[in-house]
Amino acid sequence: MPLMTDRPQAPIISYRETPGVTTRRCYRRPNLVTMIKAKRDHIHDLFSQQGLRCTLQRRSLYQALAASTDHPTAEQLYNDVIGHTPGMSLATVYNTLEAFCQAGLAQKLWGKGGSVRYEANTHNHLHTRCDKSGAVHDVPEDIGQKVLKSISRSLLKQIEHEMGFKIDRIQIELCGQYTGP
Ligand SMILES: [Zn+2]
Repeated sequence: MPLMTDRPQAPIISYRETPGVTTRRCYRRPNLVTMIKAKRDHIHDLFSQQGLRCTLQRRSLYQALAASTDHPTAEQLYNDVIGHTPGMSLATVYNTLEAFCQAGLAQKLWGKGGSVRYEANTHNHLHTRCDKSGAVHDVPEDIGQKVLKSISRSLLKQIEHEMGFKIDRIQIELCGQYTGP
C-alpha cells in the first residue's frame, strides 16, 4: 500500500495552563516528530536501494505521490509540492517522476489524448476510470486480488508464447460512469 496514506494519529491530551483557570487541548509533538523522521528514513532507504540520491525535491515529490489516492498528473503533483519545496520546477517534476518509474518506485497510467497519471502503488491492482470525469480510482484490494487470481495462468503463458511478449505486470481498467453510492 502507499507509504504516506496513514496520517499520524497523535493522541490528544489535555492540560491546565493555570490550574483552575484555563484548559487547553494540544497534540503530543514528540510522537509526530518521531513518525515524520521514521518516514523520512524509510524514503531515504527506499531511494538508496534503487540507487537514487535522496534530494529534498525527490523526497517531497515521492511523499506527495505516495500520499495521493487519485492518481495525480505531473501538474497536480507540482501544485501540491511547489509551496513547500524550494527549487522545484515542472521540468524537475517530470524528470523525477520518470526516474521513479525507471526505478520501479512509481508507475504511469495512460489516459485519453496521451494524458499521463502517476501512482506509487506498483503492485498489480485494478482501476475504475470514469468516462465522464476521467477520475481514476483503485478497486478495493481484496476484490481486485480475486479478479487477478481468476485470470488463467495458462492463458497468460499462451499470450506470451504466441505474441513473443514477456508479461511483467497486469493493469486492468474498468471503464464506465459513477452512479452514486
Ligand atoms: Zn492505482
